[in-house]
Amino acid sequence: MDLYEYQAKELFAAHGVPVLPGRTVETAGEAAAAAAELGDTVVIKAQVKTGGRGKAGGVKLAATPDEAREKAAAILGMDIKGHTVHQVLVTEASDIAEEYYLSFLLDRSNRTFLAMCSAEGGMEIEQLAVERPDALARVPVDAIAGVDRAKADAIVATARIPAAVADQTAEVVVTLWETFVAEDATLVEVNPLVRDPQDRIVALDGKVTLDGNADFRHPGHADLVDERTENPLEAKAKAKGLNYVKLEGGQVGIIGNGAGLVMSTLDVVAYAGERHGGVKPANFLDIGGGASARVMADGLDVVLGDDDVRAVFVNVFGGITACDAVANGIVEALAILGDSATKPLVVRLDGNNVALGRRILDEANHPLVTQVATMDDAADKAAELAAGA
Ligand code: GDP
Ligand code: MN
Repeated sequence: MDLYEYQAKELFAAHGVPVLPGRTVETAGEAAAAAAELGDTVVIKAQVKTGGRGKAGGVKLAATPDEAREKAAAILGMDIKGHTVHQVLVTEASDIAEEYYLSFLLDRSNRTFLAMCSAEGGMEIEQLAVERPDALARVPVDAIAGVDRAKADAIVATARIPAAVADQTAEVVVTLWETFVAEDATLVEVNPLVRDPQDRIVALDGKVTLDGNADFRHPGHADLVDERTENPLEAKAKAKGLNYVKLEGGQVGIIGNGAGLVMSTLDVVAYAGERHGGVKPANFLDIGGGASARVMADGLDVVLGDDDVRAVFVNVFGGITACDAVANGIVEALAILGDSATKPLVVRLDGNNVALGRRILDEANHPLVTQVATMDDAADKAAELAAGA
């Protein structure tokens, strides 16, 4: 889950990363009040989960409460890269002497963590990474050893942070690493990390991605979810404990058991779709090993509820849960859903007890269900139905 800047900075503050005080508001009037409360010049910042807000006009200085009202009114409701601004952060403005860059992330390709740091941060960091990669230090971080003060000093030195603020910056590097570990993040990024004229180091912006697999360790993280921007189908699936991901631009609903099987199902459907006007998979849904009727009904309910879906491919390889149990699950699920099930289902069963499973579906003779014996043929049938519907 990606966090808003204000949420990221609240986590930073809780772990000792220096940030400036601020308040999140939803109206221009509240922005003026927040500015009056903070006193000095403030910055009004669009809270949307995308970068480049500054360039899009979503970050503005305001010297007075009236100006804060005006700037907030202009930013609220703005569309930034497809994200509507529902709230703005009103925060104390900082004087900026220099802008640095600092992040920790999960480096999947190298199977390690990575620190990235630069003395030339700010809005052009992407360009810097491409044009002058030497100016962006990339320092691998061992998961067990982590980042102690000596490691932080090495990161700061590699990034060529000026000596006058090297100590303060190294301290922030350590506390940002502590945030990364304690919150089970896969990304923490500060850009800009600012040096002010008094040589104080402050995180002016913050980006955090939390690892959803660690949610069970962080009951507090549930409060960070913004229902306004959550995909409603994903929210529904999550509430039912389903492992579901909506894929934009697809028409074939996918249900399978086992993440590996579902992933390869996505591939064969995408491939088959090329022969049928370019239809694509509409979701990932792994109903797991014990595909009970209830789980199957919940899964079908979510997938059929997707307006983009025109046909569903149920791809099950019977293992510990045998095909007959899955077949009964499908039949019961369709009975539970009744008239709300309206789209064609292509079912491919294989594995443990396949003959009995197929017979159960044949005998049920449900008008929406077509059985196909192989994965490739079933993908082709589902794509054809989705294209024709
Ligand atoms: P982003 O464009 O979405 O990454 O948003 P940022 O929070 O990084 O803000 C963009 C830019 O606005 C920063 O790089 C700064 O140059 C500027 N900015 C943000 N906060 C302040 C502030 O408190 N004072 C000043 N002078 N500039 C700021
Ligand atoms: Mn930024």
